[in-house]
Amino acid sequence: MTTKYVFLTGGVVSSVGKGVTAAAIGRLLKERGFSVAVQKLDPYINVDPGTMSPYQHGEVYVLDDGAETDLDLGHYERFIDTSLNQVCNVTTGQVYAEVIAKERRGDYLGGTIQVIPHITNEIKRRIGLVAKTTGAEIVIVEVGGTVGDIESLPFLEALRQMRSDVGRQNSLYIHVTWLPHIGATGELKTKPTQHSVRELRSIGITPDMIIARSDHPVDDDLREKIALFCDVERRGVVPMITSQVLYEVVLTLEKDGVGDYLLERFGLKARQKPDWGVWEHLVAEIQRPKPIVKIALVGKYVELHDAYISVREALNHAGLALGVEVEISWVHSAELEKGRGWDIVRSADGIVVPGGFGSRGIEGKIQTARYARHEKVPYLGLCLGMQLMVIEFAREVLQDEEVNSTEFDRSTHHPVIDLMPDQRDIADMGGTMRLGLYPCQLQPGTRAANAYQQDLVHERHRHRFEFNNAYRQVLHKAGMRYSGLSPDGRLVEIAEMDDHPFMLGTQFHPEFLSRPNRPHPLFVAFLQAVRERAGLITPLEIKTVEVQPSKTAG
Ligand code: GLN
Repeated sequence: MTTKYVFLTGGVVSSVGKGVTAAAIGRLLKERGFSVAVQKLDPYINVDPGTMSPYQHGEVYVLDDGAETDLDLGHYERFIDTSLNQVCNVTTGQVYAEVIAKERRGDYLGGTIQVIPHITNEIKRRIGLVAKTTGAEIVIVEVGGTVGDIESLPFLEALRQMRSDVGRQNSLYIHVTWLPHIGATGELKTKPTQHSVRELRSIGITPDMIIARSDHPVDDDLREKIALFCDVERRGVVPMITSQVLYEVVLTLEKDGVGDYLLERFGLKARQKPDWGVWEHLVAEIQRPKPIVKIALVGKYVELHDAYISVREALNHAGLALGVEVEISWVHSAELEKGRGWDIVRSADGIVVPGGFGSRGIEGKIQTARYARHEKVPYLGLCLGMQLMVIEFAREVLQDEEVNSTEFDRSTHHPVIDLMPDQRDIADMGGTMRLGLYPCQLQPGTRAANAYQQDLVHERHRHRFEFNNAYRQVLHKAGMRYSGLSPDGRLVEIAEMDDHPFMLGTQFHPEFLSRPNRPHPLFVAFLQAVRERAGLITPLEIKTVEVQPSKTAG
């Protein structure tokens, strides 16, 4: 089958849920028997979001192949349940870097390098790589930002050209807009949508579908009006009413006939009848009132919840499997250092310390780990959260509060977390990170092995520092278990405490592999302990808890 392309642009304002819409559309098509991949084109000049502050950009989502990507890729993978790769996130920075490198090599034979055709050709080449590398039959391409932004022009021009490159029957354009509500008259306004479509047309793109996000119900007259003024078929105008439940977007778009309409326009027939049973159950479960468990998430970027979006989702997925509502309290670790916020930590049934970089708030997190260990409160440490759990324990075992990671104290005499010896020289030259999928061998009889019910798993990493093997024995004797190791035994991947209901830390980021209907086993095990502590003893019903080894492992 010739590859089909769905291009998504945004209009009026940003943050209307374009990423979730792209993800949901992917699900509609997958449910009809097609293989789907989603690509995000980000107009900023950074090469990837890896070095961007989470305050600016939210979470950095990591793929199997180690690509550090936009958090929308997390939505795509969670909704579609497919593994994406590095070509699925393209930035202006990458495109220019490639073109300039070619120019320096002399590949252009002295030609003048211009936005059109050189930059646009490179963008189109990268769009083409998605189908080639993922094998997807339908590729959804989302352009970041909104129409009218200076930065996104080359991307839009590339999309415009794609229609003649791949053919009308193989390309569809969807414009996602926002309908503002005027409180005084109680009206929804379509004018900004009309203007945005006009802007899109002025650069040569005619939308085939308009998805109009709104906080209020949209009646048929309004749909008619948008269809008329924007010259889109009536069936191509789809209101997307704001929902409290993220995953409901799929069902909303299905109800509005988006899946059938897209296939029809592509001249395709569904290979299977979509079965929404599992998805409907999921949404109903989310809406059902459930007993609450309280989790304190102790981090550094807590003002912006998007910075920990995968952790939040992983907790929610596990909560659904166990029939509990996870209520997250966001605690700033630097505040804990000043003695503030401890009431929240103390009232929580469980504690999560997520990943992070840099020394701000570190001591607050270490104090949190100490509290969790002494008070036997369930604790889940993710990457940095695992390293700090090790530091905290080692401080007590070695009777030395100077114990640290060399990330925070280069001259500590007890570097329990350190760079690996073979890493040191490279790190001095600017650093290198362990990124992407790595195997982890589980040690029988441990909490981690019991949770996974597997011997070998693959998990996604994003860190530079590691557990220092010089301290393995002394900490082991004092009660720490290494329940996950790299297959050669050199790297500690999971550590857990013996004498504790649940205190476990992972060097990797399990949150990236949690899916709504396939919660991550470690999050489930953690929440089981949390639920016990909260005194909830409802019978548990875990559907599937295994993490399927990814196809792109390598
Ligand atoms: N800063 C730590 C390291 O580089 C942990 C990173 C993380 O939590 N992702 O090893």
